[in-house]
Amino acid sequence: MPDAKIATLLALDEDRTPFGAMAPAIYQTSLFTFENYEDMAAAFAGTSDHFIYSRGRNPTVELFEHKVAEMEGTEAAKAFASGMGAISSAILSQVASGDRVVCVRNVYPDTYKLLTQFLPRFGVQTTFVDGTDTDAVIRALEGARVLYLENPTSLTFDLQDVRALTTAARQLGVVTVLDNSWATPVYQRPISLGVDLVVHSASKYFSGHSDVVAGVAAGSAAHVAKLSSLEYAVLGAKLSPFDAWLLVRGLRTLPLRLAQHHRNALRVAAFLEGQSKVARVRYPAAADHAQHDLFDQQFSGGSGLLSFEVREDLADAVPAFANALRVFHLGVSWGGYESLVYPAAIGYSSPGATNSVRDFVVPRTLVRLHVGLEDVDDLITDLSKGFAALEGGG
Ligand SMILES: *Cc1c(COP(=O)(O)O)cnc(C)c1O
Repeated sequence: MPDAKIATLLALDEDRTPFGAMAPAIYQTSLFTFENYEDMAAAFAGTSDHFIYSRGRNPTVELFEHKVAEMEGTEAAKAFASGMGAISSAILSQVASGDRVVCVRNVYPDTYKLLTQFLPRFGVQTTFVDGTDTDAVIRALEGARVLYLENPTSLTFDLQDVRALTTAARQLGVVTVLDNSWATPVYQRPISLGVDLVVHSASKYFSGHSDVVAGVAAGSAAHVAKLSSLEYAVLGAKLSPFDAWLLVRGLRTLPLRLAQHHRNALRVAAFLEGQSKVARVRYPAAADHAQHDLFDQQFSGGSGLLSFEVREDLADAVPAFANALRVFHLGVSWGGYESLVYPAAIGYSSPGATNSVRDFVVPRTLVRLHVGLEDVDDLITDLSKGFAALEGGG
């Protein structure tokens, strides 16, 4: 069900569009000028909200930030050039040398890289814990500075009991950051579950059309001001006005798109459950998923991203499955109109010292699907052709 309240607030651009324009303006400008010395001095002193320079603030970008903050039910948001820009700034804004982060296993690969390759250079260590084991996460929190959640996790779609974890984190003075890219605020409201900072890859459902790479971090005015004044400003991962404009355009259909992704994904998950060549389906919105009760407590719907594991004896035939698909395209990312397939075995071939797929032992038999907005019967026909090509032996 689309969230009616979110759908309504996304339509309102009220005072932010001059000349009565229905669509927002794109303020494609690097700098903003001042009438006089006093006005400029006031902007620098922070006593006026006059725009100064677009690496700091820009009206089109602020429109996107305003809408995300409203959707997440919080005070403020800061937009970034990518999801990783938002994630790295959010974490960096909370840690100093000697601090420890607690992070769930099966987190997004580049978030894993940030925590295992980048932050240790500055004396920040991370403990990885199975997020489905609430007690284990809470035990790891003692003495930590940040709890990093991704609900559900990448590739495996495991859920965390967010309310239980944030309650424990608060008592220990640990700041909680949650990646909400999969559900979006339409289906999961982390702030209402006690999370301090919500981060997003806006490249996914916020954009919705596979044409933007962007990110955003949302939270209290104090948390967002902290990361805006330092990490955002000095690392420079700003969002362009044009990308912000595309995002505002994409957001308007977010509740509608998600409702259809949810319907299509439920049909695809049920189809996969009926396949003798499938060992396991990982879609927490499906009624027979092991964590479905927790899903029902925390989410009001599911998105179009899910995975399944083929039987062990068919592992070598995953390439034949992927190559037989015509409507599903081989590709990374997700959240746009089109259906996509990504076999986890491909991730094993990435070079480098850290490889999250290998380190988290993601099954080589796992295949991720983004169930798009095409006709669902055509999607199922396409997958049937894939399963026909999925033969063991050899
Ligand atoms: C894609 C993704 C990211 C990274 O976002 P970018 O916009 O590609 O930088 C982070 N978290 C999750 C869950 C993602 O799927």
